[in-house]
Amino acid sequence: MEKYLPNIFFALILIAGIGYFTMNVRKLIRNIKLGKDIDRNDRKPERFKNMAKIALGQYKMVRRPLSGILHIIVYVGFILINIELLEIVIDGLFGTHRVFQPVLGDAIYGFLIGNFEVLAALVLVAVIIFWLRRNVEKVKRFWNKEMTGWPKKDGNIILYFEMVLMSLFLIMNATDIHFQEAGVGNVISQFIAPWFDGYSAETIHAIEKTAWWLHIVGILIFLNYLYFSKHLHILLAFPNTYFANLNPKGQFTNLEAVTKEVKMMMDPDADPYAMPEEGAEDEVPEKFGASDVTDLNWVQLMNAYTCTECGRCTSSCPANLTGKELSPRAIMMKTRDRLEEVGKNIDANGGEFKDDGKQLLNDYISPEELWACTSCNACVQECPIGIDPLSIIMDMRRYLVMEESAAPQELNMMMTNIENNGAPWQYSQQDRLNWKDEN
Ligand code: SF4
Ligand code: SF4
Repeated sequence: MEKYLPNIFFALILIAGIGYFTMNVRKLIRNIKLGKDIDRNDRKPERFKNMAKIALGQYKMVRRPLSGILHIIVYVGFILINIELLEIVIDGLFGTHRVFQPVLGDAIYGFLIGNFEVLAALVLVAVIIFWLRRNVEKVKRFWNKEMTGWPKKDGNIILYFEMVLMSLFLIMNATDIHFQEAGVGNVISQFIAPWFDGYSAETIHAIEKTAWWLHIVGILIFLNYLYFSKHLHILLAFPNTYFANLNPKGQFTNLEAVTKEVKMMMDPDADPYAMPEEGAEDEVPEKFGASDVTDLNWVQLMNAYTCTECGRCTSSCPANLTGKELSPRAIMMKTRDRLEEVGKNIDANGGEFKDDGKQLLNDYISPEELWACTSCNACVQECPIGIDPLSIIMDMRRYLVMEESAAPQELNMMMTNIENNGAPWQYSQQDRLNWKDEN
């Protein structure tokens, strides 16, 4: 029985790690579903193409070549090296050692592990460059005011995680005497192995076992850390790009009820008292626009969880660049923070949301931020994973205008002029052609 204790212990931490992760994924899905329904099941081939190009192919990342290429190295390396995880899990559960080596044969096994070792070294280098860019070069977009406190720490923690995991993988291989003696696949670890010359075989074996355990435990911690981190995008980038808005940028969604009203105003024969047709749904929404996260749609909420906080949007935002209060990245971060708060409220109150006297508007996002937006779509264009901060801004503005009549004075004047004069200017339609008499 004693012999099986490590295997039982391994199975227990595996179950605990996967169990906690599953619990958080369910919470994540529940929170996203708090959003309003929106149909994004159309144009499936186009959606798959979008996902393949943006999430899998990372084509938007390389618009900024240095960070784009480094990101691709980390992404590809991390995914491929984790194939090794399968072997670790089997070894852990059944007490085998490098179970795939005899199954695949030395040549294939060595080829695979050799590639993983090269990738691990490249990931290590890429992650160190990322760390230097953040902390030494201090690239501006990582130092905006929303990137203080947890977001700043989170960005670094994940880099440390990757450095440690990659190092453990290489040390594990370098101290595996059997693997080193076989001489297949130890492309990088053969240069690390001499660091342990002079140690007894028992000590080297103990170091290997420790690295092995720390590696698997580290991966499980990493997996569970994702939910609390901007690194959730590793998983959500795929659905996020699949369900992204495929309409041309700048095409706004008109409210059906309002469109109908306007058409009615413009149709001299329309009967304003006409009853809706039998069976027709009441199309007037309970609330126009959005003042809280539950007024947004589920894709917008998924966007908030997917945001990587890379700041590419903010660094292209004309409002932000000219010193305005607005940062599209902060819009996404605040939406996620409020959504998390609502989720915790639901958990604490037996599955029901208890009014906490707060909302996204004013408590998280100010009208000043919302009105600073020029609706230029640069943030949408720049986002490497298909996030649309502008749609949230427009929905919240819609609320301010339609529910609170709280548009800035200039806009209110313009809207009054359109209503009274049919044009945004402050003179009557009869005076439109006066300019020609002046010449
Ligand atoms: S649409 Fe608004 S938030 Fe986005 S880049 Fe333009 S001004 Fe900034
Ligand atoms: S919205 Fe997109 S571009 Fe902006 S910080 Fe998030 S992931 Fe980066």
